[in-house]
Amino acid sequence: MSSIKDTFGRTLRDLRISVTNRCNFRCSYCMPVEIFKHDYPYLKKDQLLSFEEIVRLSRLFVSHCGTKKIRLTGGEPLLRTDLPQLIKWLSDIPEVEDLSLTTNGWHLSRMADDLRAAGLMRVTVSLDALDNTVFGKINGVGRPVEPVLKGIDAAIEVGLPIKVNMLVIRGVNEDQILPMTHYFKERNICLRFIEFMDVGNCNKWSIDQVVSGKEILELLKKDFLFESLNPAYKGEVAKNYRFMDSGTEFGLITSVTQPFCKNCNRLRLSADGKLFLCLFAITGHDLKEPLRQGATDKELVDLIKGTWNLRKDRYSELRKETNRDKGSRPKIEMSYIGG
Ligand code: SAM
Ligand code: SF4
Ligand code: SF4
Repeated sequence: MSSIKDTFGRTLRDLRISVTNRCNFRCSYCMPVEIFKHDYPYLKKDQLLSFEEIVRLSRLFVSHCGTKKIRLTGGEPLLRTDLPQLIKWLSDIPEVEDLSLTTNGWHLSRMADDLRAAGLMRVTVSLDALDNTVFGKINGVGRPVEPVLKGIDAAIEVGLPIKVNMLVIRGVNEDQILPMTHYFKERNICLRFIEFMDVGNCNKWSIDQVVSGKEILELLKKDFLFESLNPAYKGEVAKNYRFMDSGTEFGLITSVTQPFCKNCNRLRLSADGKLFLCLFAITGHDLKEPLRQGATDKELVDLIKGTWNLRKDRYSELRKETNRDKGSRPKIEMSYIGG
């Protein structure tokens, strides 16, 4: 299996596939309710890649481009009709070493069993608070926490390894850091704290709202004893720690204060078939049109390789130099290309 390299020598290993740009939440940092209304131009059904198209591309990625990991995301991936069918087909591709999903967890309790049976290997649930008022405000639609916690329990029950991602925003949910840590530590679930990023153009990001990984560690030191762990593999995005008493792990994803562009081996495929080389890209590289115009496998592989070979994105490193959103240029929204 050949690996391909970009201009900085970074190999393409992870493919994140967005299966929809719709969501049942309106998280203030991602799809603020005042912008993502009913009349927002969401992708229509015929604009979305079909499951057959996603599977064909995925096969090419793993067999010709060195991709080893596939993560399904969105928008909210569990809203895509018949998602377990797609998972089944992807899990049938022999070279896929890791097949995972990121979800807000709302529909997880009723779907966990089918997802596991279809071949999903792991799940990450995003949950930013345990307090209903705080959570309802963040998710923008007043949804309570309980169904998400039930989803997490259901995933564990069917044997799906799980991690929980908590995005921390100053003035919004720092008071949830300790309760979340206690809750998930007791259940031996890895909680990962994520720094707020300036993705897209509509979440009014500013550096003042970023609670740094360093601050989070300082806070945790008040309640817990823990030690840092060595990276499990080169290019691991999270910095991992282990509580001394229980052995439960937690992680920090410090994309703003300690960017990891130099090891970034991720490619994102939007729900309408565009390749994005960076979370902060301005435009994507269309694969849907050639796919639908009858391109051969070789032509598609050449397109993918040619796109990756020219990649020189390192947005977060550049942002770090000024701690400012890098300009007023249009950026792609996270709900469109997936986190
Ligand atoms: N809807 C699913 C979910 O929420 O897990 C999958 C898509 S969501 C875009 C994926 C992840 O992106 C979530 O964990 C969310 O917290 C994260 N995210 C969204 N906007 C972000 C931002 N501005 N900064 C950092 N993470 C963000
Ligand atoms: Fe939806 Fe996930 Fe974005 Fe929240 S973070 S609005 S759940 S896509
Ligand atoms: Fe990768 Fe772009 Fe994020 Fe840097 S800013 S880690 S290149 S996605």
